[in-house]
Amino acid sequence: MSRLSLADVYRARQRIAGRALVTPLLQSVALSKVAGVAVYLKLETVQPTGSFKLRGATNALAQLADEGCKRVVTASTGNHGRAVAYAARALGIEAAVCMSSLVPRNKVDAVAALGARVVIVGKSQDDAQVEAQRLVREEGYAFVPPFDDPRVIAGQATIGIEILEALPDVATIVVPLSGGGLFSGVAFAAKSIARATEMVGVSMERGAAMHASLEAGRAVHVDELETLADSLGGGIGLDNRHTFDMTRELIDRVVLLDEVSIARGITHAYREERLVVEGAAAVGMAAVLDGAVRSQGPIVIVVSGCNIDIDTHRRLIGDA
Ligand SMILES: *Cc1c(COP(=O)(O)O)cnc(C)c1O
Repeated sequence: MSRLSLADVYRARQRIAGRALVTPLLQSVALSKVAGVAVYLKLETVQPTGSFKLRGATNALAQLADEGCKRVVTASTGNHGRAVAYAARALGIEAAVCMSSLVPRNKVDAVAALGARVVIVGKSQDDAQVEAQRLVREEGYAFVPPFDDPRVIAGQATIGIEILEALPDVATIVVPLSGGGLFSGVAFAAKSIARATEMVGVSMERGAAMHASLEAGRAVHVDELETLADSLGGGIGLDNRHTFDMTRELIDRVVLLDEVSIARGITHAYREERLVVEGAAAVGMAAVLDGAVRSQGPIVIVVSGCNIDIDTHRRLIGDA
């Protein structure tokens, strides 16, 4: 079990104030009708980098900067990479993002546009990871993990504090679940403040590494499969130190969704909520639409990000 305390989460909130947004919590009329109780959306889509990952990255980098660290590195090409690049620039430190030569040009450009040093190496994400470790060993960079890190978890946990402050009688919180940094953080904060809060994690059926690990009772490898919820892909790390134990202790229920449901969540968001969301962020809404989340009291859905490929989005909403 991690040594995270609620005081760490409040300190994280102070550290990220003015750097990551306090996001809106809006009631969804359409989903409230479906669920028969009030349903609210916590909109991490409006963060400057388009996802909640800015919270954890900012909290980790602010602490590293205070300790005198001048250079950080990550191997993520997705929302974490963007968040690290953005937070590093805001804090005046250098960020390197290692990527393989197979990463699409637009992703490379997005990270470079945020001022990060892009290191292209090898032909797989594993090669990029090896290069990141080399930069740590030989060039004095600090590695910033995407989820399995108490500073990152504490940053994501600030969402839980915001939810409980805005809606003290929340009964159920629904959170997208991949490596478990978001889930662990939100669940830890919510249950520390209001013990009875029910915590539901939602993953896709195709390659749900945390779910498979919970079933096995230890971190296990799961083959990564293509999914609309691409930000939920990837393993939890066979040497997982924090998020597996925290998720196992704090989770009340896991919901797994097929691709049709995830697509329905994306189109629902657009048509009924007027929101552009990525697949990973649509899973909470999709789970409610499927009738897979029932609660006696108010439900909050964490809508985790908006970074979806525009052509994919257009195709899904039937506007191609
Ligand atoms: C990273 C991410 C998640 C999952 O977060 P974990 O901490 O890995 O569980 C969910 N949604 C979006 C948009 C993400 O970028």
